[in-house]
Amino acid sequence: MKKIYLDSAASTIIDKRVIEVMMESMNEDYGNPSSTHSFGQEGKAKIEAARKCIAQWLNVPPHEIIFTSCGTESNNLILRSCVENLGIRRIISSPLEHKSVLETIRDLREKHNELEIIFLPLKDKKGNLDFETLEEYLMENKPTLVSLMHANNEIGNLIDLNYVGNLCKKYNALFHSDTVQTMGHYLIDLANLPVNFATCSAHKLHGPKGVGFVYIKKTSGLKSIITGGSQERNMRAGTENVYGIVGLGKAFDCAMKELEQRKMQIEKLKQYTIKQLTKHIPNITFNGTCQENSQSIYTLISILLPFPNTLVGFQLDIKGIAVSQGSACSSGATKPSNTMLQLFSTEVLMNSTTLRISFSHYNSKEDIDALVSALTEIYQKATINKTNTIHV
Ligand code: PLP
Repeated sequence: MKKIYLDSAASTIIDKRVIEVMMESMNEDYGNPSSTHSFGQEGKAKIEAARKCIAQWLNVPPHEIIFTSCGTESNNLILRSCVENLGIRRIISSPLEHKSVLETIRDLREKHNELEIIFLPLKDKKGNLDFETLEEYLMENKPTLVSLMHANNEIGNLIDLNYVGNLCKKYNALFHSDTVQTMGHYLIDLANLPVNFATCSAHKLHGPKGVGFVYIKKTSGLKSIITGGSQERNMRAGTENVYGIVGLGKAFDCAMKELEQRKMQIEKLKQYTIKQLTKHIPNITFNGTCQENSQSIYTLISILLPFPNTLVGFQLDIKGIAVSQGSACSSGATKPSNTMLQLFSTEVLMNSTTLRISFSHYNSKEDIDALVSALTEIYQKATINKTNTIHV
């Protein structure tokens, strides 16, 4: 059975070229990069080469890139250190953020009584945020951090980093964007964007798991949230994940060099999927801004199937097709995610099934055909069952 992977927003296939450089590094760079001998220093040089490469693509100085273990750690570092070291007294965010932001904010609120948390209201049922309210809050001129993700990992909505960043800048607020879903998929010129902090995770861009980075623009005063050694210019204690960083550097370089080509291919697949699903499953709903190209990430679509079935993900899996059901990135969860609950009533969610289909350049039209055919079969069975139930 050919296995079909349509869950790249959760994690991606590792590029063979990435595996190659990582294997080489594992064989050669076993020294500790903090050691002064050549065994350590050769690994250290590879870390710096990866940093320089990533920094060049983002158009920023290398020292503004700090390697971490993942996107979650990167978001934690920014949020926690802004509150604990930069005197931030208010965080403005959205209820649609990834758990690594929402749970960190929840924890910070419990630990810091004086910290005010504001979640922006949604402007509509597509999950667009109300930026007028953001400006009203910013006008109050409190020491504020705005934390809004670039692309939503469940429904794919994009925000305009330039617009939001300029609003923050106008009112002297700091701006953090969780760019985990867009790094390596878009050209992000951080030197020319009013963004103070951005985050990345290698496994979302065909790199290895367990490594990521945080971008910190000229912001002094931030401190490591992990205590220990002075690695990463004192911003992230702990022996560096040399092989992981080497892999991240290679994955990033390949992603950026091949960006246009990959984007064109994936965009076509996304449009084809929307067309085929619309044709075969009447009353299907596309969630968020999925169908509005410029406002939605090209790598994913989120759908609402017009029948309840908590086992769709499992039924597809039996056929060798992997998609994400229920809460994206919360493995195994089939109950409605926070994002879905913000967009739909519990009644709608109880009578439908949410799926996230996410693509990479490794997918083909045949993969989509197989998915659509499997979903059509599931839909038809659900419809027949429903009709039978009514007649009994
Ligand atoms: N932020 C977003 C938007 C994500 O989609 C994810 C992962 O799913 C993360 C953060 C967390 O990244 P990591 O898996 O590297 O911790």
